[in-house]
Amino acid sequence: MNILLLGAPGSGKGTQSEFLCEKNNYIHLSTGDLFRKNIGNETELGVLAKSYINKGILVPDEVTNKMVEEYLKDNSDNVIFDGYPRNVEQAKELDKMLNSINKMLNCVVYLDIDDSVLIDRIVNRVVCPVCKRSYHLINRKPKVANKCDFDNADLQSREDDKLDKVSKRLETYNNQTKPLIDFYKDRLIKINANNKKPIEVYKDIIEALKK
Ligand code: ADP
Repeated sequence: MNILLLGAPGSGKGTQSEFLCEKNNYIHLSTGDLFRKNIGNETELGVLAKSYINKGILVPDEVTNKMVEEYLKDNSDNVIFDGYPRNVEQAKELDKMLNSINKMLNCVVYLDIDDSVLIDRIVNRVVCPVCKRSYHLINRKPKVANKCDFDNADLQSREDDKLDKVSKRLETYNNQTKPLIDFYKDRLIKINANNKKPIEVYKDIIEALKK
């Protein structure tokens, strides 16, 4: 089964992807992580992507679609799509790509969360550059300050998580990504992600997926 996790920046898509992959047989496709890997390796794609990401806007569709198409050549079953599709054009393209290999996006889990909590979550987020797990400086601290619990790497803040970038990212989400809620209404599962621990959100997702 292929699942899309849909939700605003900071809604918990990455964290829920971690749970779904650790506890089940899923593979995590995060276009954000793929771009950041390319940025870290200073590839041509990375240099291009960085100029968009640091402005809080989307990387052009043709670039992103091509990257996903490459990824799907090796992995097209039990994929958790995190951060892709991010607009209706990408959603149509993904349908085409999956169709051509007799696969489909089976369900869309929408993490519904109030705008008021998002900014706090994003500016307090630190991530492990090695395993990509994310932490919150107040609510989900690592066991040892500034070190990843799993591989002891130094945790980092994302450049685009700085306060001055966040409002543009939320605007991009509201204008371009939110219309996907309607686009996918035939396969949408809405999960309330407010005021709940990540593990509780995860349990709600698993319950909903059983139905
Ligand atoms: P978040 O969900 O917290 O915003 P991501 O790691 O998913 O973070 O994405 C970071 C940035 O990478 C986005 O703001 C955007 O610039 C770029 N990006 C990620 N996925 C896509 C996509 N599907 N299409 C275009 N740009 C993308």
